[in-house]
Amino acid sequence: MSQQPPVALEARKITKRFAGVVALRDVDLRLYAGKVNAIVGENGAGKSTLMNILSGVYADYEGELLVGGGAPRHFASTTEACRAGIAMIHQELNLVGGLSVAENIFLGREPLTALGLIDYPRMRREAAEVLRRLRFAESPDARVGALRVGQQQLVEIAKALARNARILIMDEPTSSLAEGEVAVLFDVIRALTARGVAIGYITHKMGELAQLADYVTVLRDGCLVHAAPARELSADELVRLMVGRDPADFFARGDHPAGPRVLEAEGITLRDPARPGRRLLDGVSLHAAAGEVLGLYGLMGAGRTELLETLFGLHPAEATGALRLGGSPARLGSPAQAIAHGVALVPEDRKGDGLVLGMSIAQNTTLAALGAALRGGLISPRRERGVADEWRARLGIKSHSARQPAASLSGGNQQKVVL
Ligand code: ADP
Ligand code: MG
Repeated sequence: MSQQPPVALEARKITKRFAGVVALRDVDLRLYAGKVNAIVGENGAGKSTLMNILSGVYADYEGELLVGGGAPRHFASTTEACRAGIAMIHQELNLVGGLSVAENIFLGREPLTALGLIDYPRMRREAAEVLRRLRFAESPDARVGALRVGQQQLVEIAKALARNARILIMDEPTSSLAEGEVAVLFDVIRALTARGVAIGYITHKMGELAQLADYVTVLRDGCLVHAAPARELSADELVRLMVGRDPADFFARGDHPAGPRVLEAEGITLRDPARPGRRLLDGVSLHAAAGEVLGLYGLMGAGRTELLETLFGLHPAEATGALRLGGSPARLGSPAQAIAHGVALVPEDRKGDGLVLGMSIAQNTTLAALGAALRGGLISPRRERGVADEWRARLGIKSHSARQPAASLSGGNQQKVVL
């Protein structure tokens, strides 16, 4: 076996509790200079918590951190971690929508003029330089809130790059990126490792492991179950380690006959409101039967999202075509109509379209089905919580109460609330 590269960051015996719940127990981890260590594990395994500790987000934890083989330390803030050369790109983006791209990149450490004012030209110039490395298409002056999620993700990465981090932690960075953007990100990661940057990369995508990972660290229920060079583990072994049982047992995939057609769409066409004469969808027909999973494939921009949005009644003014739901004609009129027909849409942008982050799990769960929460024509918080508690149990939503705001959940658990 080849020589071990230098250890950039070592975590020893990390234990972390949240209000009595143990999120991590005695976890060891090493990130190597110039290498990608993929941190994998199921939802709630403790991946984000561990990476948050490495980047100074939590001050109260047990265990110690060693940077570049130095003395053991304990980070009390992200500023301390940042000074030690560690930056993290969070799963839930940390951007200020009302500020420009450049302002976000330099937030809290803006370059100043001799007079002590923000040196905007310099900020813009340096931002543009980092953004060029990421092949970011928009202007550094663009307002972040107006960007697509994928581009916002690139701004987060630019923020870390502009800090010249030697250790870069990424929490599921591709979850909202388009294919082209993923390719750019992987190029950036390779360029960074070639310069000796150590990368901690949280993912649950097997394809990414094969393309990127030099090392793999597997967490399960807050414990370290395996750490090894990536090439020593097969995909099957990895999944077994992550889940703790055999992959063959996961999906009992028996044959079952398809039921009647519940969704029939004929000649769905969607005009592009921004470009008269252009069509986003042009005569799409499909049908799905009860008990069937229908896959929709296509590149970014091919119209996948628009098709589902149209079927859900989100584009009544631009859409034409025939729709039958449950065998009866239906209109592409409004989400309320679609919901009344038993159609639900889990949108692409979980935080923007799927949830009201400041509302509780209970309120979010019943938001599209208020009928279930009504009592005497008024919303009953108690009913709301009753419905939410049932789904918290059925979907295993890791949370301590249905009153908890959706914003406080991990990304995977937020997704379960959307479902
Ligand atoms: P992963 O990133 O692997 O999905 P997390 O690190 O987000 O997992 O979560 C690990 C465990 O810690 C989960 O049980 C989760 O519910 C809990 N947890 C994470 N963050 C918090 C928090 N801020 N408050 C309470 N519990 C939390
Ligand atoms: Mg996570």
